[in-house]
Amino acid sequence: MTSLDARLRVLIAAEGPLTVAQYMQMALSAYYGGRDPLGAAGDFVTAPEISQIFGELVGLWLVQVWEDAGRPAKLRLVELGPGRGTLMADLWRAARVRPGFHAAASVHLVETSPALRAKQQAALADVPVVWHAALGEVPADAPLFLVANEFFDALPVRQFVFAEGGWRERCVGLDAAGGLAFRLSPAPTALVVTPHRPAPRDSDVIEICPAAENIVRDIAARIAARGGAALIADYGHDGRGYGDTLQALREHAFADPLQYPGAADLTAHVDFAALAVAARQEGAEAMGPIDQGAWLSALGIAARAEALSRARPDQAGEIAVAVRRLTAPEAMGRLFKVMAIAQSGSAPMLGFAP
Ligand code: SAH
Repeated sequence: MTSLDARLRVLIAAEGPLTVAQYMQMALSAYYGGRDPLGAAGDFVTAPEISQIFGELVGLWLVQVWEDAGRPAKLRLVELGPGRGTLMADLWRAARVRPGFHAAASVHLVETSPALRAKQQAALADVPVVWHAALGEVPADAPLFLVANEFFDALPVRQFVFAEGGWRERCVGLDAAGGLAFRLSPAPTALVVTPHRPAPRDSDVIEICPAAENIVRDIAARIAARGGAALIADYGHDGRGYGDTLQALREHAFADPLQYPGAADLTAHVDFAALAVAARQEGAEAMGPIDQGAWLSALGIAARAEALSRARPDQAGEIAVAVRRLTAPEAMGRLFKVMAIAQSGSAPMLGFAP
Protein backbone atom coordinates (compact mmCIF):
# COMPACT_ATOMS: atom_id res chain seq x y z
CA MET A 1 0.00 0.00 0.00
CA THR A 2 1.31 3.47 -0.81
CA SER A 3 1.19 6.13 1.91
CA LEU A 4 -1.37 8.06 -0.12
CA ASP A 5 -3.52 4.90 -0.32
CA ALA A 6 -3.71 4.80 3.49
CA ARG A 7 -4.59 8.50 3.68
CA LEU A 8 -7.27 8.14 1.00
CA ARG A 9 -8.93 5.27 2.88
CA VAL A 10 -9.19 7.39 6.02
CA LEU A 11 -10.47 10.39 4.04
CA ILE A 12 -13.11 8.39 2.14
CA ALA A 13 -14.26 6.56 5.28
CA ALA A 14 -14.80 9.93 6.96
CA GLU A 15 -16.08 12.07 4.08
CA GLY A 16 -17.52 9.68 1.49
CA PRO A 17 -16.40 8.81 -2.05
CA LEU A 18 -14.22 11.13 -4.17
CA THR A 19 -14.94 11.89 -7.81
CA VAL A 20 -12.46 10.33 -10.24
CA ALA A 21 -11.14 13.87 -10.83
CA GLN A 22 -10.53 14.46 -7.12
CA TYR A 23 -8.79 11.10 -6.88
CA MET A 24 -6.62 11.84 -9.94
CA GLN A 25 -5.75 15.27 -8.60
CA MET A 26 -4.50 13.88 -5.28
CA ALA A 27 -2.71 10.92 -6.87
CA LEU A 28 -1.01 13.08 -9.52
CA SER A 29 0.24 15.79 -7.19
CA ALA A 30 1.82 13.13 -4.98
CA TYR A 31 3.21 11.40 -8.08
CA TYR A 32 4.75 14.38 -9.90
CA GLY A 33 5.77 16.20 -6.74
CA GLY A 34 8.22 13.56 -5.65
CA ARG A 35 9.96 12.16 -8.71
CA ASP A 36 11.11 12.36 -12.29
CA PRO A 37 8.78 9.83 -13.93
CA LEU A 38 10.39 9.99 -17.36
CA GLY A 39 12.91 7.75 -19.06
CA ALA A 40 14.01 4.14 -18.97
CA ALA A 41 14.25 4.09 -15.16
CA GLY A 42 10.88 5.81 -14.76
CA ASP A 43 7.35 4.98 -15.85
CA PHE A 44 7.04 6.37 -19.39
CA VAL A 45 8.94 7.94 -22.29
CA THR A 46 7.74 10.95 -24.30
CA ALA A 47 8.39 12.18 -27.85
CA PRO A 48 11.06 14.78 -26.96
CA GLU A 49 12.90 12.12 -24.94
CA ILE A 50 12.86 9.74 -27.94
CA SER A 51 14.62 12.11 -30.34
CA GLN A 52 15.90 15.68 -30.42
CA ILE A 53 14.25 15.94 -33.85
CA PHE A 54 10.82 16.28 -32.22
CA GLY A 55 11.77 19.48 -30.39
CA GLU A 56 13.72 20.80 -33.37
CA LEU A 57 10.68 20.51 -35.64
CA VAL A 58 8.48 22.18 -33.02
CA GLY A 59 11.07 24.99 -32.93
CA LEU A 60 10.98 25.34 -36.72
CA TRP A 61 7.19 25.44 -36.59
CA LEU A 62 7.28 28.18 -33.95
CA VAL A 63 9.69 30.43 -35.81
CA GLN A 64 7.73 29.98 -39.04
CA VAL A 65 4.50 30.97 -37.30
CA TRP A 66 6.31 33.91 -35.69
CA GLU A 67 7.59 35.02 -39.09
CA ASP A 68 4.13 34.65 -40.67
CA ALA A 69 2.77 36.85 -37.87
CA GLY A 70 5.16 39.63 -38.93
CA ARG A 71 7.90 38.87 -36.37
CA PRO A 72 6.40 40.57 -33.30
CA ALA A 73 9.22 42.24 -31.36
CA LYS A 74 8.06 40.81 -28.06
CA LEU A 75 6.44 37.46 -27.31
CA ARG A 76 5.74 35.14 -24.40
CA LEU A 77 7.10 31.67 -25.17
CA VAL A 78 5.34 29.30 -22.78
CA GLU A 79 5.62 25.56 -22.21
CA LEU A 80 3.07 23.73 -20.08
CA GLY A 81 4.46 20.74 -18.17
CA PRO A 82 8.03 20.79 -19.56
CA GLY A 83 9.12 17.48 -17.97
CA ARG A 84 12.92 17.34 -18.13
CA GLY A 85 13.15 20.53 -20.20
CA THR A 86 14.25 18.58 -23.26
CA LEU A 87 11.60 19.92 -25.64
CA MET A 88 12.33 23.55 -24.70
CA ALA A 89 16.10 23.02 -24.99
CA ASP A 90 15.75 21.46 -28.46
CA LEU A 91 13.23 23.97 -29.81
CA TRP A 92 15.23 26.91 -28.43
CA ARG A 93 18.40 25.69 -30.17
CA ALA A 94 16.52 25.12 -33.43
CA ALA A 95 14.92 28.59 -33.24
CA ARG A 96 18.37 30.14 -33.74
CA VAL A 97 17.84 29.75 -37.51
CA ARG A 98 15.65 32.89 -37.38
CA PRO A 99 17.71 35.74 -35.98
CA GLY A 100 15.58 37.93 -33.73
CA PHE A 101 13.41 35.20 -32.24
CA HIS A 102 15.61 34.66 -29.18
CA ALA A 103 15.73 38.39 -28.47
CA ALA A 104 11.96 38.74 -28.84
CA ALA A 105 11.05 35.79 -26.60
CA SER A 106 10.78 35.63 -22.84
CA VAL A 107 10.50 32.01 -21.77
CA HIS A 108 7.96 30.83 -19.20
CA LEU A 109 7.70 27.30 -17.85
CA VAL A 110 4.47 26.23 -16.17
CA GLU A 111 5.43 23.41 -13.82
CA THR A 112 4.16 22.30 -10.44
CA SER A 113 6.70 19.58 -9.65
CA PRO A 114 9.78 20.70 -7.66
CA ALA A 115 11.67 17.59 -8.80
CA LEU A 116 11.06 18.41 -12.47
CA ARG A 117 11.77 22.12 -12.03
CA ALA A 118 15.26 21.11 -10.89
CA LYS A 119 15.74 18.97 -14.02
CA GLN A 120 14.50 21.82 -16.21
CA GLN A 121 16.91 24.23 -14.62
CA ALA A 122 19.80 21.90 -15.42
CA ALA A 123 18.69 21.28 -19.02
CA LEU A 124 18.07 24.98 -19.68
CA ALA A 125 21.12 26.49 -17.97
CA ASP A 126 21.76 28.68 -21.04
CA VAL A 127 18.16 29.82 -21.53
CA PRO A 128 16.69 32.65 -19.44
CA VAL A 129 13.51 31.06 -18.03
CA VAL A 130 10.91 31.93 -15.40
CA TRP A 131 8.76 29.31 -13.63
CA HIS A 132 5.08 29.54 -12.82
CA ALA A 133 2.61 27.29 -11.05
CA ALA A 134 -0.15 28.09 -13.55
CA LEU A 135 -0.63 29.77 -16.93
CA GLY A 136 -2.64 32.53 -15.24
CA GLU A 137 0.62 33.86 -13.75
CA VAL A 138 2.19 34.52 -17.17
CA PRO A 139 1.70 38.14 -18.27
CA ALA A 140 -0.86 38.50 -21.07
CA ASP A 141 0.78 41.60 -22.54
CA ALA A 142 2.28 40.19 -25.76
CA PRO A 143 1.58 37.50 -28.37
CA LEU A 144 1.54 34.02 -26.83
CA PHE A 145 3.54 31.19 -28.39
CA LEU A 146 2.74 28.09 -26.38
CA VAL A 147 3.63 24.41 -26.60
CA ALA A 148 2.38 21.48 -24.53
CA ASN A 149 3.42 17.87 -25.09
CA GLU A 150 1.77 15.19 -22.98
CA PHE A 151 0.52 17.84 -20.56
CA PHE A 152 -3.24 17.71 -21.08
CA ASP A 153 -3.42 13.92 -20.54
CA ALA A 154 -2.15 14.52 -17.00
CA LEU A 155 -5.11 16.68 -15.99
CA PRO A 156 -7.93 15.17 -13.91
CA VAL A 157 -11.06 13.96 -15.71
CA ARG A 158 -14.55 13.40 -14.38
CA GLN A 159 -16.20 10.23 -15.61
CA PHE A 160 -19.91 9.57 -16.06
CA VAL A 161 -21.40 6.13 -16.72
CA PHE A 162 -24.76 5.63 -18.43
CA ALA A 163 -26.89 3.41 -16.18
CA GLU A 164 -30.63 2.96 -15.79
CA GLY A 165 -31.44 5.75 -18.22
CA GLY A 166 -29.19 8.42 -16.69
CA TRP A 167 -25.56 9.53 -16.30
CA ARG A 168 -24.06 8.66 -12.94
CA GLU A 169 -20.69 9.99 -11.82
CA ARG A 170 -17.99 7.39 -11.33
CA CYS A 171 -16.44 7.79 -7.89
CA VAL A 172 -13.73 6.21 -5.78
CA GLY A 173 -15.14 4.66 -2.61
CA LEU A 174 -14.27 1.69 -0.43
CA ASP A 175 -15.06 -2.01 -0.88
CA ALA A 176 -16.09 -4.39 1.93
CA ALA A 177 -12.43 -4.98 2.81
CA GLY A 178 -11.75 -1.24 3.08
CA GLY A 179 -9.79 -1.01 -0.17
CA LEU A 180 -10.27 1.61 -2.90
CA ALA A 181 -13.02 0.64 -5.37
CA PHE A 182 -15.01 2.34 -8.13
CA ARG A 183 -18.62 3.23 -7.28
CA LEU A 184 -21.38 5.07 -9.13
CA SER A 185 -23.11 8.06 -7.62
CA PRO A 186 -26.54 6.93 -6.41
CA ALA A 187 -28.44 9.67 -8.22
CA PRO A 188 -28.09 10.51 -11.92
CA THR A 189 -26.78 13.92 -12.94
CA ALA A 190 -28.49 16.13 -15.51
CA LEU A 191 -25.30 18.00 -16.36
CA VAL A 192 -23.79 15.75 -19.02
CA VAL A 193 -24.07 16.93 -22.62
CA THR A 194 -22.87 14.65 -25.39
CA PRO A 195 -22.54 16.60 -28.65
CA HIS A 196 -21.26 14.63 -31.69
CA ARG A 197 -22.07 11.35 -29.94
CA PRO A 198 -24.63 8.63 -30.70
CA ALA A 199 -27.41 7.93 -28.20
CA PRO A 200 -25.80 6.29 -25.14
CA ARG A 201 -26.28 2.66 -24.15
CA ASP A 202 -25.88 1.11 -20.73
CA SER A 203 -22.33 1.29 -19.32
CA ASP A 204 -21.13 3.81 -21.91
CA VAL A 205 -18.60 6.15 -20.30
CA ILE A 206 -18.07 9.83 -21.04
CA GLU A 207 -15.11 11.81 -19.74
CA ILE A 208 -14.88 15.54 -19.28
CA CYS A 209 -11.78 17.45 -18.29
CA PRO A 210 -12.79 20.82 -16.83
CA ALA A 211 -9.17 21.78 -16.09
CA ALA A 212 -8.13 21.21 -19.73
CA GLU A 213 -11.08 23.20 -21.04
CA ASN A 214 -10.32 26.09 -18.69
CA ILE A 215 -6.65 26.21 -19.67
CA VAL A 216 -7.53 26.12 -23.38
CA ARG A 217 -10.02 28.95 -22.84
CA ASP A 218 -7.24 31.04 -21.28
CA ILE A 219 -4.85 30.21 -24.14
CA ALA A 220 -7.47 30.99 -26.79
CA ALA A 221 -8.54 34.27 -25.18
CA ARG A 222 -4.90 35.44 -25.04
CA ILE A 223 -4.30 34.49 -28.69
CA ALA A 224 -7.57 36.10 -29.80
CA ALA A 225 -6.60 39.34 -28.04
CA ARG A 226 -2.85 39.55 -28.72
CA GLY A 227 -1.98 37.04 -31.41
CA GLY A 228 0.38 34.10 -31.37
CA ALA A 229 -0.26 30.38 -31.61
CA ALA A 230 -0.41 27.23 -29.50
CA LEU A 231 0.62 23.70 -30.33
CA ILE A 232 -0.86 20.85 -28.30
CA ALA A 233 0.45 17.30 -28.82
CA ASP A 234 -0.97 14.36 -26.95
CA TYR A 235 -2.72 11.03 -27.25
CA GLY A 236 -6.40 11.46 -27.69
CA HIS A 237 -9.57 11.20 -29.72
CA ASP A 238 -12.12 13.35 -31.51
CA GLY A 239 -14.87 13.10 -28.90
CA ARG A 240 -17.32 11.23 -31.09
CA GLY A 241 -17.61 8.01 -29.10
CA TYR A 242 -17.65 6.75 -25.55
CA GLY A 243 -14.99 5.05 -23.49
CA ASP A 244 -13.12 4.80 -20.24
CA THR A 245 -9.55 5.91 -21.03
CA LEU A 246 -8.31 6.32 -17.45
CA GLN A 247 -5.03 4.45 -17.30
CA ALA A 248 -2.16 3.95 -14.92
CA LEU A 249 1.41 3.39 -16.08
CA ARG A 250 4.07 2.05 -13.80
CA GLU A 251 7.53 1.02 -14.95
CA HIS A 252 6.37 1.08 -18.59
CA ALA A 253 3.44 -1.32 -17.99
CA PHE A 254 -0.28 -0.70 -17.51
CA ALA A 255 -1.46 -0.98 -13.91
CA ASP A 256 -4.79 -0.86 -12.06
CA PRO A 257 -5.56 2.89 -11.67
CA LEU A 258 -6.55 2.36 -8.02
CA GLN A 259 -3.62 0.19 -6.99
CA TYR A 260 -0.69 2.60 -6.63
CA PRO A 261 -2.10 6.07 -5.91
CA GLY A 262 0.79 8.53 -6.01
CA ALA A 263 3.24 5.90 -7.26
CA ALA A 264 1.95 5.34 -10.80
CA ASP A 265 1.29 7.79 -13.63
CA LEU A 266 -2.44 8.36 -14.14
CA THR A 267 -3.73 9.75 -17.41
CA ALA A 268 -6.77 9.99 -19.62
CA HIS A 269 -6.93 10.45 -23.38
CA VAL A 270 -7.41 14.04 -24.50
CA ASP A 271 -10.78 14.95 -26.03
CA PHE A 272 -9.54 17.25 -28.80
CA ALA A 273 -13.08 18.08 -29.94
CA ALA A 274 -13.89 19.49 -26.50
CA LEU A 275 -10.68 21.57 -26.59
CA ALA A 276 -11.53 22.90 -30.06
CA VAL A 277 -15.00 23.93 -28.86
CA ALA A 278 -13.44 25.72 -25.85
CA ALA A 279 -10.97 27.56 -28.13
CA ARG A 280 -13.68 28.68 -30.55
CA GLN A 281 -15.89 29.88 -27.72
CA GLU A 282 -13.13 32.37 -26.89
CA GLY A 283 -13.00 33.64 -30.46
CA ALA A 284 -9.90 31.74 -31.60
CA GLU A 285 -9.40 29.19 -34.39
CA ALA A 286 -8.61 25.52 -33.75
CA MET A 287 -6.69 23.53 -36.40
CA GLY A 288 -6.47 19.76 -36.46
CA PRO A 289 -6.07 17.53 -34.62
CA ILE A 290 -4.01 15.65 -37.15
CA ASP A 291 -1.97 12.51 -36.58
CA GLN A 292 1.48 13.20 -35.13
CA GLY A 293 3.05 11.06 -37.87
CA ALA A 294 1.47 13.14 -40.62
CA TRP A 295 2.38 16.42 -38.91
CA LEU A 296 6.03 15.43 -38.40
CA SER A 297 6.25 14.27 -42.02
CA ALA A 298 4.83 17.59 -43.24
CA LEU A 299 7.44 19.39 -41.14
CA GLY A 300 10.20 17.40 -42.84
CA ILE A 301 11.21 14.75 -40.32
CA ALA A 302 12.70 12.54 -43.04
CA ALA A 303 15.05 15.25 -44.30
CA ARG A 304 16.10 16.25 -40.77
CA ALA A 305 16.79 12.61 -39.88
CA GLU A 306 18.91 12.22 -42.99
CA ALA A 307 20.95 15.33 -42.21
CA LEU A 308 21.46 14.23 -38.61
CA SER A 309 22.51 10.73 -39.71
CA ARG A 310 25.06 12.20 -42.13
CA ALA A 311 26.52 14.30 -39.31
CA ARG A 312 26.58 11.31 -36.91
CA PRO A 313 26.92 8.15 -39.02
CA ASP A 314 27.50 6.02 -35.91
CA GLN A 315 23.98 6.93 -34.70
CA ALA A 316 22.14 6.43 -38.00
CA GLY A 317 20.47 3.21 -36.85
CA GLU A 318 19.26 4.74 -33.60
CA ILE A 319 17.92 7.81 -35.41
CA ALA A 320 15.95 5.63 -37.84
CA VAL A 321 14.43 3.66 -34.94
CA ALA A 322 13.42 6.88 -33.16
CA VAL A 323 11.83 8.32 -36.30
CA ARG A 324 9.80 5.14 -36.80
CA ARG A 325 8.66 5.27 -33.18
CA LEU A 326 7.47 8.85 -33.52
CA THR A 327 5.76 8.45 -36.89
CA ALA A 328 4.68 4.83 -37.55
CA PRO A 329 0.91 4.35 -37.24
CA GLU A 330 1.37 1.28 -35.02
CA ALA A 331 3.76 3.21 -32.72
CA MET A 332 3.05 6.87 -31.76
CA GLY A 333 2.20 8.20 -35.23
CA ARG A 334 -1.56 7.75 -35.10
CA LEU A 335 -2.57 7.61 -31.43
CA PHE A 336 -0.71 10.86 -30.81
CA LYS A 337 -2.24 13.92 -32.39
CA VAL A 338 -1.33 17.55 -32.85
CA MET A 339 -3.74 20.46 -32.60
CA ALA A 340 -3.08 24.16 -33.03
CA ILE A 341 -4.85 27.29 -31.84
CA ALA A 342 -4.53 30.52 -33.79
CA GLN A 343 -6.30 33.83 -34.26
CA SER A 344 -9.61 33.47 -35.98
CA GLY A 345 -9.33 33.86 -39.74
CA SER A 346 -5.68 32.67 -39.84
CA ALA A 347 -4.52 30.73 -42.88
CA PRO A 348 -3.75 27.05 -42.13
CA MET A 349 -0.44 26.95 -40.26
CA LEU A 350 2.59 24.88 -41.24
CA GLY A 351 1.67 21.18 -41.14
CA PHE A 352 -2.07 21.84 -40.92
CA ALA A 353 -2.82 22.64 -44.55
CA PRO A 354 -5.44 20.25 -45.93
N1 SAH B 1 6.19 17.67 -21.67
C1 SAH B 1 7.11 16.72 -21.09
C2 SAH B 1 6.61 16.05 -19.82
C3 SAH B 1 5.27 15.36 -19.89
S1 SAH B 1 4.81 14.71 -18.29
C4 SAH B 1 7.53 15.71 -22.12
O1 SAH B 1 6.91 15.65 -23.17
O2 SAH B 1 8.48 14.97 -21.86
C5 SAH B 1 3.69 15.94 -17.67
C6 SAH B 1 4.34 17.22 -17.21
O3 SAH B 1 3.31 18.10 -16.76
C7 SAH B 1 5.29 17.09 -16.05
O4 SAH B 1 6.31 18.04 -16.21
C8 SAH B 1 4.40 17.42 -14.86
O5 SAH B 1 5.11 17.76 -13.70
C9 SAH B 1 3.59 18.54 -15.42
N2 SAH B 1 2.29 18.77 -14.79
C10 SAH B 1 1.34 17.86 -14.52
N3 SAH B 1 0.24 18.44 -14.01
C11 SAH B 1 0.50 19.76 -13.97
C12 SAH B 1 -0.26 20.91 -13.57
N4 SAH B 1 -1.49 20.80 -13.11
N5 SAH B 1 0.33 22.13 -13.69
C13 SAH B 1 1.58 22.25 -14.19
N6 SAH B 1 2.33 21.21 -14.58
C14 SAH B 1 1.81 19.98 -14.48
